Amino acid sequence: MIEANNPSLTSWVKVPENTDFPIQNLPFGIIKSNSVSARAASRIGDHALDLVALSDLGYLEGLEFAKSDFDQAKLNPMMKHGKQALRKLRNRLSELLSGKDESLKNATDHHTKVLIPIEEIENELPVEIGDYTDFYSSIEHATNVGTMFRDPDNALLPNWKYIPVGYHGRASSIILSETPIKRPKGQQKPDPEKPPVFGPCKLLDFELEMAFITFDGKPLGESISTKEADEYIFGMVLFNDWSARDIQKWEYVPLGPFLAKNFASSVSAWIVTLDALESFRTAGPKQEPEVFPYLKYEGDKNIDINLEVAIQPENAEETTVCHSNYKHMYWNQNQQLAHHSVNGCNIKAGDMYASGTISGPTKDSYGSMLELSWKGTQPIKLNDGSERKFIQDHDTVIMRGNCEKNGVRIGFGEVRTKVLPTND
Ligand code: MN
Repeated sequence: MIEANNPSLTSWVKVPENTDFPIQNLPFGIIKSNSVSARAASRIGDHALDLVALSDLGYLEGLEFAKSDFDQAKLNPMMKHGKQALRKLRNRLSELLSGKDESLKNATDHHTKVLIPIEEIENELPVEIGDYTDFYSSIEHATNVGTMFRDPDNALLPNWKYIPVGYHGRASSIILSETPIKRPKGQQKPDPEKPPVFGPCKLLDFELEMAFITFDGKPLGESISTKEADEYIFGMVLFNDWSARDIQKWEYVPLGPFLAKNFASSVSAWIVTLDALESFRTAGPKQEPEVFPYLKYEGDKNIDINLEVAIQPENAEETTVCHSNYKHMYWNQNQQLAHHSVNGCNIKAGDMYASGTISGPTKDSYGSMLELSWKGTQPIKLNDGSERKFIQDHDTVIMRGNCEKNGVRIGFGEVRTKVLPTND
């Protein structure tokens, strides 16, 4: 077991009960405040742990990192050191915060220098995202979409159980939680008998997804096996892949999603390391027909992450509209990365790979309004009495995720996005 994951560890830093960020989590992110510039940090409970200050005070000696790796507005320079170096860093943070190494615990005058109350900081987008790929790896989601738009008896396309289907998305419009979005405009064709129209999207939707973030991979022309994949994955975030269903329907033939998807995707602020998630591995579904040898894998590669989505209308309480779980994925991350690189495509530190909408087997576990309202035919009732088929202006969509096992609960915080009207 990775030492920092030990469920019996506790910290001398006071941590609220049921926090997403106990000592077993120790995610990484970028913080700034009135007194400090943007920099790398970890988080414990309701405090950010300033890695620049920690390095300055000599607590990170003997590790591979220089202070300049942390004194950056993105995590990429830190991530260039790779998985093993990051694991040692996280283990060191764990020793310092548990008191196994008593130096920081005893240096009480250092506490306010390295631990910043979370209400005093702002997060920034944690990585410079070079490339973004979106998969389509939930069998329930792919089946629901195929049932709605094609043939209920042949909902999955013939390639789906052979290929972890995906497409290259747009990295520039991936935005941090709490950044509002504007309702996109575009072409739609609501009436099959009439010409297309132009205007604000009427069928704005969320997609409940998780994304993993990679380290630098191998040179162009080489591949990463399912066995090697873990070594190239840094961690994960919650990912809301905003979608304009009416724009999508008109534009996606023959080359796939374009303006219906690239106006925004929202991510949570703290990258939970794959190391921290190792304790929550679980078996994936049986894959039938048998997959190609390069997609075979050993061990449990799915991860048990409880997920939920809530909608909060303006000046009203939120309503949870979906409970799903990342463990339902048909294709796991190792297979996705092996497939992505099997042709020699190279990957880089900071690249983001989203799962595709994560739907579960039950109606309340569907990860998009498209499925929850079944194309708008079955509106969802909210606690304030209103109904939703899709997302309205001034709604806030909130996604949360956490894992729980052996008395340890680690989470992702949330990704929260308000939708503003189109400005004409
Ligand atoms: Mn998507």
